[in-house]
Amino acid sequence: MVKIDKETAFSILENVKDPEIPLLSIIDMGILRDFYYDNNKAIAVITPTYSGCPAMTMISDMVKDELVKAGLENVEVISQISPAWTTEWMSEKAKSNLKASGIAPPIKMQMTELFNIKFNDDKIECPFCNSNNTKKTSEFGSTACKSLHYCNECSQPFDYFKCI
Ligand SMILES: [Zn+2]
Repeated sequence: MVKIDKETAFSILENVKDPEIPLLSIIDMGILRDFYYDNNKAIAVITPTYSGCPAMTMISDMVKDELVKAGLENVEVISQISPAWTTEWMSEKAKSNLKASGIAPPIKMQMTELFNIKFNDDKIECPFCNSNNTKKTSEFGSTACKSLHYCNECSQPFDYFKCI
């Protein structure tokens, strides 16, 4: 039977894109956490970005499909919710790709926690013109993971990726 190492598994699974943000792979997003063998079973560990994100079932199926396509027979995908996913796990490439596609990337959570300031989502930086003169127009954008904002400066609506 085919056996691949963790590095190979990760490079294969680079093909699995986040269904909500097709530009980004589950590696970019930090969704794929681990790959190992338990006896002869290949285990891929994924962590949902957002509790109740309907995309997770889809991601889990896609991960399995890719590994089966690579020749693995006995594959299990485990969803691990603890430790919880954080935007810190997103690569810098992921954040800049988000911005390039017109979605404001998540703001570093630690900063707001550190200063104990209430996160102000009315001043999210516009991904188009970088202005902070924006306002939130809806709690939910194109998907539940995003909220919808409007830039007063360049008159563009945009999504903010609000998963923490
Ligand atoms: Zn703008």
